[in-house]
Amino acid sequence: MNIPMKTKDELNKEIIETITKIQENYPELSKFEDEMTITIPYEQKVEINEKALIEYNDSLQGMANEYAKHSKKHIVIIGAGFAGLKLARTLNNHPDYAITLIDQNNYHQFQPLFYQVAMANLDASNISFPLRNIFQKSKNVTIRVTTVTNINTENKNIETSNGIFTYDYLVIATGAVTNYFGNTAIEKFSFPMKSTWEALQIRNTLLTHFEDAITANHSNSNKLLSIVIVGGGPTGVELSGALAEMKTDSLPLEYPELNFAEMKIYLLEGTPKLLSAMREASSIKAKEYLQKLGVTVMLNTLVKEYDGTQVLLQDGSVIESTFVIWAAGVKGNIPEGIHPDFISKSNQIKTDSYHRVIAAENVFALGDVALIESDLHPKGFPQLASVAIDQSKNLANNFLRLAKTNLYFHFNMLTKVVWQRWVETKP
Ligand SMILES: Cc1cc2nc3c(=O)[nH]c(=O)nc-3n(C[C@H](O)[C@H](O)[C@H](O)COP(=O)(O)OP(=O)(O)OC[C@H]3O[C@@H](n4cnc5c(N)ncnc54)[C@H](O)[C@@H]3O)c2cc1C
Repeated sequence: MNIPMKTKDELNKEIIETITKIQENYPELSKFEDEMTITIPYEQKVEINEKALIEYNDSLQGMANEYAKHSKKHIVIIGAGFAGLKLARTLNNHPDYAITLIDQNNYHQFQPLFYQVAMANLDASNISFPLRNIFQKSKNVTIRVTTVTNINTENKNIETSNGIFTYDYLVIATGAVTNYFGNTAIEKFSFPMKSTWEALQIRNTLLTHFEDAITANHSNSNKLLSIVIVGGGPTGVELSGALAEMKTDSLPLEYPELNFAEMKIYLLEGTPKLLSAMREASSIKAKEYLQKLGVTVMLNTLVKEYDGTQVLLQDGSVIESTFVIWAAGVKGNIPEGIHPDFISKSNQIKTDSYHRVIAAENVFALGDVALIESDLHPKGFPQLASVAIDQSKNLANNFLRLAKTNLYFHFNMLTKVVWQRWVETKP
């Protein structure tokens, strides 16, 4: 055995430092402290066999180093939305996990305020948070800005436009994309609002339409000032309300050449009510409020076609408009590689209630892209930021528990070995 030239006091100090370091990193291990003091009563400064003390110190440090080397698991998170970002933040600086957070954008986007960017009330920078800035002091989170193109669960790796990444654990948090229900014409001519970039596109198009309306003839001006929003969920309600307020407040001041009495805002909804996922009272109130603001709310109204100038409705009637915003639905955004048997009709990845992707080892899915079917919630949970965050917290807690279990197992083994040696070598 290698006996260093250290005094007993120095060794005691070193042991205490080592233990303190471990305790700082794993404050939740309250049991650990008790076991250590039972094993070697170093604080009482009793006559300790020097050999046992040195061995104890060596093995403790060796154990900690070995543990750090072998237990650092690589978690790859795809998507820095509400779910992915929360998970990376919760595991930030955890000594047992190396995290690679991948997103196609170098920023997190706060989707609930897209409508404010689209309506020129907020700048894009107010709702976009650079990922490298968020994690600039992190010891274990690495950011990669790239698009994931394929997931290979057998080889435990993912393909991206910047190469292949291997993982011990994979978390898919890629959110949702606009659902056009297979209608390519609507996809081509209408404007979605599922990213900051798309919100800016709406804003720029809207402002360009107002400029064009100034010089257009009466018929074209009417088309340019007629805005159709399809989808009476929260996004459609927020957008039409914000537009209606602008129509009376700011627009007449900024475009005095235009007659905003001729501006029409339509909100089309396929079901019998607005905000169908909310309480009846909220639906009624939202409709009344929008109508009071001058929005034409059309319920039970389905869009059949749109060619860029005319919106053809299912009942055969037509609305003339050069500006249609499509907020009528989303579907899960799944990278290639997940077996079709585990993808739902809503294009979401089926998981169990621990967020494990069914039949894939060490792969999890969270947020809008994930579906947990249960008797209580046969259609899963709503695609909301709060749900994504809660799921993320749940998974993060399980990763923390897993680390604690591993660590506790190792230290338990260590204390037993040290105790044995202490008994054997006691003077
Ligand atoms: C206009 C609008 C308003 C909303 N308002 C509200 C609201 O008021 N309250 C509420 O609770 N919820 C609201 N939501 C819903 C909420 O934003 C979502 O439920 C939430 O964003 C889901 O979080 P997520 O982490 O699952 O996905 P997201 O937040 O969508 O994040 C997914 C991330 O994955 C990245 N990504 C996707 N594919 C890839 C790929 N292949 N490679 C790399 N990166 C990829 C994306 O860039 C994105 O950053 C709103 C949504 C919209 C569109």
